[in-house]
This record gives sequence, C-alpha cells and structure tokens, in this order.
Amino acid sequence: MKRRDFLTAGAAMSAISGMNPADGAAAPAFTTRIVRLNLQHTWTTTMSSSQYRDTLHTAYTRDGITGHGEGAPIVRYHEDAAGAQKAADSLRDLLLSSDPMQFAKIMAEVFHRVPGEWAGKAAIDIALMDWVGQKLKIPLYSYFGLDPADTPLTTFSIGIDTPEITKQKTREADDFPILKVKVGLSTDEPTIEAVRSVTKKPLRVDANEGWTDKEEAVRKINWLEKMGVEFIEQPMPAEMIEETRWVRSRVHIPVIADEACQRASDIPKLRDAFDGVNVKLDKSGGMLEAYRMIQIAKALGMKTMLGCMVSSSVSVTAAAHLSPLVDYADLDGNLLISNDPFHGVRVEKGKLMLPKTPGLGLTAAK
Ligand code: MG
Repeated sequence: MKRRDFLTAGAAMSAISGMNPADGAAAPAFTTRIVRLNLQHTWTTTMSSSQYRDTLHTAYTRDGITGHGEGAPIVRYHEDAAGAQKAADSLRDLLLSSDPMQFAKIMAEVFHRVPGEWAGKAAIDIALMDWVGQKLKIPLYSYFGLDPADTPLTTFSIGIDTPEITKQKTREADDFPILKVKVGLSTDEPTIEAVRSVTKKPLRVDANEGWTDKEEAVRKINWLEKMGVEFIEQPMPAEMIEETRWVRSRVHIPVIADEACQRASDIPKLRDAFDGVNVKLDKSGGMLEAYRMIQIAKALGMKTMLGCMVSSSVSVTAAAHLSPLVDYADLDGNLLISNDPFHGVRVEKGKLMLPKTPGLGLTAAK
C-alpha cells in the first residue's frame, strides 16, 4: 500500500471508530501526575509526621469521557508516589488497548502484572470506574445497587498533637457528631483528656499498632471505654494477631483491624481477633477489591468500615460511593488538605452526601 493510500485508509478507520487522527482529540489517553496536597495541620500518627502528602492522580479518556483516579501511597507498605506513577505508566498499553467495559478483566490483569503498588492500582481502578459510571450515565452508587440515603456519618480525625492544639482541632471539628482520635504514643491519656475537656461527643480511637504489651492494651482500652470511646482500631502491631485475640476477649468495645487487613485474602484469619475491618481503597487497590472485602467481612459476620488516607476528593468520593454498605466511615482525608483539586462528596453535619451526577460525580475546583 502506498503511503497516501495507507493514510486515507487510516483516516477511514478512524472515522468509523470515532477517532480523528488530525487533532487526536478523541484518541484514548491515560495520563498520570503526582499532586502535592498541602495539609491544614502538620499530621502526626505513630507512623509519620508531615505537612504535605503526594498522591498519584490519573485520567482515563475515551469516547469524549474522562474518568479520574487517585491513589495515596502508604509508607507502611513501602510505597511512594514515584513508584505508584511508574507502575501505572507501565500499564498504559493494556489500558488503551482494552475495552473499558471489561473493567473487571482489566483489573484482574493489572493485579496479575504488577506486584504491590496498591496506590497505583487504586488510581487505575478508580479512573476506570469513574469512566464506566459516566459511560452508563449513572452515579457509581447506582452501579453497585446502593441507596445514597444509606451513607453513614463520617468521623473527623484528630491527629496526635499537644493538648492545646488537640483542643483547638476538636473545636474546629464542631460540625462532626463523631470524632476519631489518633493515639498510640505515650501521650494517649492527655490527648483523650484534652478532647474530652472540649466535647462530650462519641469518640473512636485509632492506636495505629502503637501498643506492644497486651496487658497495657487491655488497660488502655478499658479506660477508653469509660471515656466514651465506641471502638478501638488496630491496638497492636498487625502481626500480633494472637495477642490481639487475647486482648479482644478482655474488652467490651469492638476491635477493628486496619494495618492487619490489606486485602480480601487477609480477612478470614482475622475473624477471631477482630470484630471488624477497616477497608481503604489505597490498601486494596481500588473499588472492586474494596467491594469484595466488604462483602467477605459481612459474610463472616464482621463489622465493616471504610477509611482513607490523606487524599483529594477523587479517592474519598470513590470510597464514599461504597459507604452505604458499611457500618462506620472515616472519610475525611480530603477535609484535611487546603488545595483539593476537585469537589465530590460533601459532608453535612457528619453525613456523607454523594453527588448524583454520573460516575464519581466530580467537578474541578476553581
Ligand atoms: Mg487506622
């Protein structure tokens, strides 16, 4: 075929598939970028302290529709934004050559090809699901068969700080009917007392694996119960499952697994040591695996929770679309930053309010 004929044939093919090689506007595309999210307060837990977080943002465009995704790399799993981006970029050819309506098949292949890199996988999964929802012209909660009226209240998280700043943060969280307080350092009691000096609201407490002595854990949890704490998240290191089972049999409030529960296959072994699991899209590798985790935990009679990392409205809104399924939500990662590039889920007096527009329902922030 002469070059001119080849170009003509190519143009005809492109016209049939809706693509225009002259301007490239309708050609499928998958782009990645690292976004630096600035924190309103320096954020301290047992694991880290920082003033910003870098997350991976993705955009999948096809047929004039763009789906947005995000993944927050988790230091505990040895992830960073550059690694997430490299992993996502390595999957571009797969994404551009596949039918996005076969998203479950694509994500199975993504999981097969790339070990680890859960944030990178989540950023792909969320972009695909946002695209699929927009293509089907339904919000993602409808795709999963859920009622947006069933969203739970979300907690607002108070990071570890001095008693004075803890009090200030607690006052700033006035609109939230339930607070989540991070403990796990030697300052646990002053932290809880500082919060309690300002509010009588129900509290949920996350120790982030901070207690290694099982008797100390029992003592602290029983004290927390007296202080009006509803549940304790990950009191002991993830690998101390047997010790956590011992602790659980000596306390009254639910014990929820976070760091011990990354993927669906982790859940059965946690059944005797924990009352429930905290599912995060950044741990699971996206919405599809998170949905599977929630269903498995429910089938095992466990409580379910959706959490998040510090991230923008992309990732938090994706988790919020699944939240009608769960008992507890801790979806405030976007509220902790000052430069969110998108609007999505809103919070009214703690209640998660889902956008009703197709896909995730995101709009760009001005
Ligand atoms: Mg946690």
